[in-house]
Amino acid sequence: NKDNDNSYMPKQWVGCDVEAEYMGEERKQSKEDRKRLSKRDRSKYKKTDQKMLKKAEDSSDDSLPTGRVLSIKSQEIIVEYEGKIYRCMLRGILKKERNNMKNLVTVGDMVRFEPLNENEGAITFVNPRKSVLSRADNLSRRKEHLIAANIDQVLITASVVNPPLKPFLIDRYIIATQKGNMNPVLIVNKVDLLENNEDPFVLEEKELYEEFLKAYAKSGFPIISISAETGEGLEALRDIMKDKSSVFSGQSGVGKSSLINKITGIDLTVGETVSHTKKGAHTTTSAQLIPLSFGGWCIDTPGIKSFGLWNLTPEEVEPYFDEIIEAGHHCKFPDCSHRHEKECAVIAAVEEGTISIIRYASYIALLDTLAEEHKRR
Ligand code: GDP
Ligand code: ZN
Repeated sequence: NKDNDNSYMPKQWVGCDVEAEYMGEERKQSKEDRKRLSKRDRSKYKKTDQKMLKKAEDSSDDSLPTGRVLSIKSQEIIVEYEGKIYRCMLRGILKKERNNMKNLVTVGDMVRFEPLNENEGAITFVNPRKSVLSRADNLSRRKEHLIAANIDQVLITASVVNPPLKPFLIDRYIIATQKGNMNPVLIVNKVDLLENNEDPFVLEEKELYEEFLKAYAKSGFPIISISAETGEGLEALRDIMKDKSSVFSGQSGVGKSSLINKITGIDLTVGETVSHTKKGAHTTTSAQLIPLSFGGWCIDTPGIKSFGLWNLTPEEVEPYFDEIIEAGHHCKFPDCSHRHEKECAVIAAVEEGTISIIRYASYIALLDTLAEEHKRR
């Protein structure tokens, strides 16, 4: 059933010529014509993906520089190219189309632009996107409510205590990250709180933390133990963020803002969620990419939890727990829930230690959470 569930497939994004998208083949017309055109109904210029794809191939204007959109400020698109900042407009009639523009180009987009002078330019083409963060439930609609594009990796942040480690939540972030075509990196913060602490509660959390490291080392995802407080692990975090565009994600209170402060030197208020979302019909959500002094970019949004990626189905969750699904083929009952049934091969494997108790507990907790959310919907 995974095969016929389109939402599971990473979306294929196509290149988009910003003029052709709105003006069809008439883009060579004079400025006067453009003005006249802009008054007409633009819907007839809407292109199919097929045509756009062709357009993308045709667009041989690759003599133009390709820059990265850092932020969008009302009608100005801030593009970085070779360390320099260009304030850009979309070429042509799009100048006044604020709403459409927002959807057409988003933070993180790679755009071809024509430099007009030292610090201004005109965007002519938006490169195909590798990944996209879009407003919840809008993933299937290509142009709408894009928040960021081309994020390489999600820094899935957790803390060892206060709040304690929750493997099932981390797994949920991992699955959502992969669904969004991005790479997961696990960041475990506040390790300073485990040191020289004999509090029985803390000792228990320390044990969970050590089990967690063992179990997740097998996953192959990078894991960084860190402390925003003492600076331990920050070097490793910088290494992994270098030359990539990253977004921090994770439960509130785990220290995302503190880590962003340390990494960027920019003071995002600690203890508050960073969000510029305004409610209402004309929702304006603007994120920005912060260039990192050592190379790379970091986006200042609360991460994937606000976006459509967070809504998972059991079908999307199960492939991630392949060893559990595999063992489940040997259960006595074909519809075994692996919770209480007799002769459950999964429970037997957990007891034998061939399936990690952390993985099993996460599997059950994650499915319970989804079922609970589904009921509330
Ligand atoms: P966010 O909600 O994920 O952005 O978390 P914040 O960065 O606002 O941090 C939440 C609280 O945890 C703040 O009081 C921070 O000072 C504290 N904190 C963050 N990182 C660490 C750490 O490495 N060690 C300790 N002991 N506290 C931390
Ligand atoms: Zn079973």
